[in-house]
Amino acid sequence: MSAARTAAIQLIARKSPVAAAAPAGKPLPELFGANVFGLDQMRNRLSESAYRALRSCMEHGQELDPALADQVANAMKEWAVERGATHFTHWFQPMTGATAEKHDSFANLEGGKLLLEFSGKALIKGEPDASSFPSGGLRATFEARGYTAWDPTSPAFLRETTNGSTLCIPTAFCSWTGEALDEKTPLLRSGEALNRAAVRLLRLLGDQRVHHVHTTLGCEQEYFLIDRDLYLLRPDLVATGRTLFGAKPPKGQELEDHYFGSIAPRVLAFMQEVELELWKLGVPVKTRHNEVAPSQYELAPIFERATIAVDHNMLCMEVLKHIAQRHGFQCLLHEKPYAGINGSGKHNNWSMATDTGDNLLDPGKSPAENMRFVVMLAAVMRAVDLHADLLRTTIAHAGNDHRLGANEAPPAILSIYLGEQLSDVVEGLIAGTGKGSQRKKETMRLGVSALPTLPRDATDRNRTSPFAFTGNKFEFRAVGASQACGKPNTVLNTMVADSLTYIADEIERLAGGKGLEGAINEVVVDLFKKHQRILFNGNGYSAEWHQEAARRGLPNFRSAVDAIGNLGNKKNVELFERFAVLSAKEVESRMNIQFEAYSKAIAIEGQSALSIARTMLLPAAQRTQGAVAQSLAAAKACGVPVVAQEKRLRDLSSRIELFVGAIDDLAAQFEHAEHHAGAPADHAKTYRDKVVPAVVKLREIADGLETMVDDAEWPLPKYREILFLQ
Ligand code: ADP
Ligand code: MG
Repeated sequence: MSAARTAAIQLIARKSPVAAAAPAGKPLPELFGANVFGLDQMRNRLSESAYRALRSCMEHGQELDPALADQVANAMKEWAVERGATHFTHWFQPMTGATAEKHDSFANLEGGKLLLEFSGKALIKGEPDASSFPSGGLRATFEARGYTAWDPTSPAFLRETTNGSTLCIPTAFCSWTGEALDEKTPLLRSGEALNRAAVRLLRLLGDQRVHHVHTTLGCEQEYFLIDRDLYLLRPDLVATGRTLFGAKPPKGQELEDHYFGSIAPRVLAFMQEVELELWKLGVPVKTRHNEVAPSQYELAPIFERATIAVDHNMLCMEVLKHIAQRHGFQCLLHEKPYAGINGSGKHNNWSMATDTGDNLLDPGKSPAENMRFVVMLAAVMRAVDLHADLLRTTIAHAGNDHRLGANEAPPAILSIYLGEQLSDVVEGLIAGTGKGSQRKKETMRLGVSALPTLPRDATDRNRTSPFAFTGNKFEFRAVGASQACGKPNTVLNTMVADSLTYIADEIERLAGGKGLEGAINEVVVDLFKKHQRILFNGNGYSAEWHQEAARRGLPNFRSAVDAIGNLGNKKNVELFERFAVLSAKEVESRMNIQFEAYSKAIAIEGQSALSIARTMLLPAAQRTQGAVAQSLAAAKACGVPVVAQEKRLRDLSSRIELFVGAIDDLAAQFEHAEHHAGAPADHAKTYRDKVVPAVVKLREIADGLETMVDDAEWPLPKYREILFLQ
């Protein structure tokens, strides 16, 4: 075995669970939110009027009086400094899929004396240089400068690290001309759009108490752990987050013994420290378990207001990565780190909640609650059916191509799973008004008939559906594990806001003639009829579904490159503009950024594959070939028969020949893609059509060689090692 691999494996044998850097020391209820400048801290440190103004701003998105900002900033600073903070940073989400921060100390010099200060101005606005963040062309037309703006709806928090603490202030990131340069701004805008549309519709339905509707979100996060010493010997994992080579191991996930299995001690110690950190940060993590694939795990929080849950998921991903290193692991968030076993997703559990404490996707018990629920259901069905193309763009990136459209759930075709009972309700309502319907289903009328109670466990256990109703929320399962949730939730909010608006318009139009209930019935049933094609309860990755979906006219964008272009469709641009979520320019820039991100990801994979193949795998294969040839020559000289061995050498040599050919081909394809830049969409297409297949071909040959080359020569840790040694 290669010396480096041997050394890494020997190290693993000596590793044991690592204790937390800062042990809990307190019961969970006291620990929770200890590093958050939350409501408690605000109440203690702000004047009554300042506190109330800030709260109302957090809850209803109202603007904060700049005069208050100084008071808030000072309170925040004092709180942070008491806890050892020396620096603050605006914490934002540029369109890189990650978060960004630029630290500033509180220090100020006055007459040679160092004072710790933090002004309202510095709290409200920051001016990081925007020129090195993706802008997708917005920069060409506008100034390079951008600014970060405090988002008071998401609380500030303290990141404790080995040698100090930093006060992090969640912010939005915009260009000087007001264009959004981040994932947060459109999310906030879309939340507002949904709020307006939902409150208006609820009023029409007779609810006079609700003043605000927000969306709720719980993100289940899947991830892999790999021992860090093995990880560092895999340049492909380091550069791209996934293995570009690796033969199938003797054992994969076929024994189904990992899912919900007993958690290994080193892993459990890691999870416990992650939870400790997240609890302090106010992230309500709840569940932990082994996932299906070997060395795959999942963590899920209790759901929260969506804008906060999105920030918290970003924090989750950061904390997972940081803490993993302390425990001698690397945390892999890529959608498909390993071929042949499951990939990782992020289930985006989404619903709408009122300020009166109701979940609008809860079927409820009374006919009135039932009616409200059915209206909301119709809104979501219409939204997903009309805007499946747009929703697909939010999960379109190079990593997710290995899940969607590949032989893995969920499929790239968007459909909704309602479960049998709820599907019966939809059919019953359709039948109830359909003249001469032949259906045997019970007919129903809204507001009159009560819904059958829907037992929660009867709703989805169908894991193949990309968008499933799960009792009182929708679970969008096609989101990739590495993704920021801003995009998918922005689109969900916007398209549902559009449906709610449509329904309100229609009810208003019809109510005069038919009365309110008649109007609601007609609108809902009409939507059910029109959009019933989006419902599918069967196996989402069967070949039959692909045919059936095509027959129904449901779009199937198999690859990210096919999907991303939809962002620029007239319908979608108009939708974003109508609800003031994104301007046409912003949409175009985002589309370009997604195409560019795809091209860059594939370019990095292509280059990594090339360099590993040329400088690590080929020399190893050639050394084995040389040794075998020498051994054969020696045996022959002794007059020993070596027919079978010669055959084997010929096989090895011909594979090496093919390998060199594949290396040269990838180099040529890469060169071609590099130099045929063109428009972002064309560039991405070239990478997909030329470079992706060349990388696949190269891997196929390399994985064959791995099974023949002397184990002592093979330089990359093998699947049997990286998946099972912890
Ligand atoms: P699973 O999907 O594994 O069965 P659960 O049903 O417990 O798990 O829920 C998964 C996630 O959905 C959790 O993060 C949970 O907090 C979240 N969730 C539950 N109710 C809602 C809701 N009303 N809105 C948004 N998310 C929710
Ligand atoms: Mg789930």
